[in-house]
Amino acid sequence: MAEQVENDKVVLMHYALKTDDKVVESTFGGSPMAYLHGHGNLVPGLETALSGREVGARLEVRVEPAQGFGEKQGKGAMPVPRKEFPKKMKLQVGMPIEIKDSSGTPVKVWVTKVQGAQVWIDLDHPLAGKELTFDVEILGIRDAMPGELEHGHAHGPDGHHHH
Ligand code: ZN
Repeated sequence: MAEQVENDKVVLMHYALKTDDKVVESTFGGSPMAYLHGHGNLVPGLETALSGREVGARLEVRVEPAQGFGEKQGKGAMPVPRKEFPKKMKLQVGMPIEIKDSSGTPVKVWVTKVQGAQVWIDLDHPLAGKELTFDVEILGIRDAMPGELEHGHAHGPDGHHHH
């Protein structure tokens, strides 16, 4: 029986992500992505759809917001002075960061804009509330290395990436 996508396998694939008929990300024409299946490294709707698929499969997967990056919860982006963040912290648009709210509880937020002395943060992922369409081509499936299982993520196509 051909190898199938299942928990603790590393899957090598090309994918393109579209929202509102626009391509947001794509690996086609570049390096494929390797991910460890069953460890929450993909949005839930995509991970579920890939389960049981075989090498060579090409599929289009539509994912509702709740199974994607979530529904919109917050009130939109708000500005925070840059000096509130540690100097060394890299702040790039689209990256998740952890901050403490007024009661000291850690909260994950997304950077949506960096403008002068202000950093705009949002409680929602930039693609929250969007229906996602993934075009996927499965290129390879292999067993995960012990280190990958320990870390909960893939270490590249051959499993030998160290970080
Ligand atoms: Zn690792």
